[in-house]
Amino acid sequence: MNFVCIDCGTQLPIGKFAYQCACGGLLEVIHDFRGVDAERLKRLFTERLSERMSPYASGVWRYKELIAPEQPEEMICTKYEGNTGLYPASWSLNRFAGVRGLWFKAQSENPSGSFKDNGMTVAVSHGRSLGYKQFTCTSTGNTSSSLAMYAAFGGESSCVFVPNKDISINKVLQTLAYGATVISFDGTYDDGILFLEKHADELGLYVCNSVNPLRIEGQKSIVYEIAQSLNWQLPDWIVLPGGALSNATALGKGLRDLKELGFIERLPRVAVVQAEGASPFHQMMAEAMEELAPQREPYTRASALNIGNPPSWRKARRVLEETGGVTTSVSDAEILDAKAVIDRSGIGCEPASAAALAGLRKLVRAGIADKDETAVCILTGHLLKDTDALKEYHLDAKWPSAAHRNALVASSLIREDVSKHLRAAEAARS
Ligand SMILES: *Cc1c(COP(=O)(O)O)cnc(C)c1O
Ligand SMILES: [Zn+2]
Repeated sequence: MNFVCIDCGTQLPIGKFAYQCACGGLLEVIHDFRGVDAERLKRLFTERLSERMSPYASGVWRYKELIAPEQPEEMICTKYEGNTGLYPASWSLNRFAGVRGLWFKAQSENPSGSFKDNGMTVAVSHGRSLGYKQFTCTSTGNTSSSLAMYAAFGGESSCVFVPNKDISINKVLQTLAYGATVISFDGTYDDGILFLEKHADELGLYVCNSVNPLRIEGQKSIVYEIAQSLNWQLPDWIVLPGGALSNATALGKGLRDLKELGFIERLPRVAVVQAEGASPFHQMMAEAMEELAPQREPYTRASALNIGNPPSWRKARRVLEETGGVTTSVSDAEILDAKAVIDRSGIGCEPASAAALAGLRKLVRAGIADKDETAVCILTGHLLKDTDALKEYHLDAKWPSAAHRNALVASSLIREDVSKHLRAAEAARS
């Protein structure tokens, strides 16, 4: 297990923290899977499903051999993350998306409420094993909450950099509650990344941004879990929202592992969905540009996707090339409608997550995905991560489509009145 530069191929030892090569290229972890007995591992992963209190009860560390084989067990900081539900779509979700078979992988069910936990447990554990005591990131919210939670749980400290606008107050409050030092700055996510690139080292901080290669390793477990739940048979499509593109990168890397080890025979196609207001990666792919052109003032209501200069675009492009993948973009109104349908189905998610379903619907309508194909949408964050978005949709009717709105019903406490409202609700449902 080493770091390797994705641009020039230089290898660096994993025992010294780095995420960037001297040439400026990003690093990734490479494993040597030669001599790995895939059948034995498969059995081991199944046996570990009955673990309760060891690190292997985690839906990430269950796959330690493929993620961080050299991580000392006693330095693992885990909250049994992963182990999230994989739910078949209800009739209305199927109809909304327009495909035959559809599942939702609810990464929203992680301990801090987002898929960032899958990667963060590995990054923080790695940092601890190197002796770091202070952890940092810049974030639109969920990365901070996740980092603050693990740092607190592991008895370490964290300092996070959060833009002072267009982020969800729920996430900031969660981060404060876990005891992180929260630095609120005037600028964008991209400015925060640049600051840490320059200064984190001098400040003695271990960087847990999306470019941290160990986070990518941990996030691979999302696709391992999906594959294991479906008895190592993946659907035709995996659809996910794209912001900094760490998740798309991780998903692709996990798929590559599974294929290389012979766990799966065929790669699903990966679809990355961006919000129209922050879609530099989709622009690049749609116009077959050589390089990503950063977007200066990204804005989308799906705050987790508010990123104009995603650092991992090269890695993500490689994933699309390898899987016959595609990109698309959807409007905020489409995102919020898709979210309302997911919420109403009883699964629930935050706005950014719903971009996956809105994007799948669009791909089916454009004839890129076929109605007879199967898909998994990855739900990245929890319904309660952005309560303002719920208020705007259901109470303030701020978004155009009233179709999925569920407004408050004002009534007297008289039996006839209540009965009238119940009949109206029943009629609306049928
Ligand atoms: C971080 C995040 C994303 C975007 O994932 P990337 O890896 O940055 O592309 C999407 N949804 C939610 C809820 C997130 O927290
Ligand atoms: Zn390099």
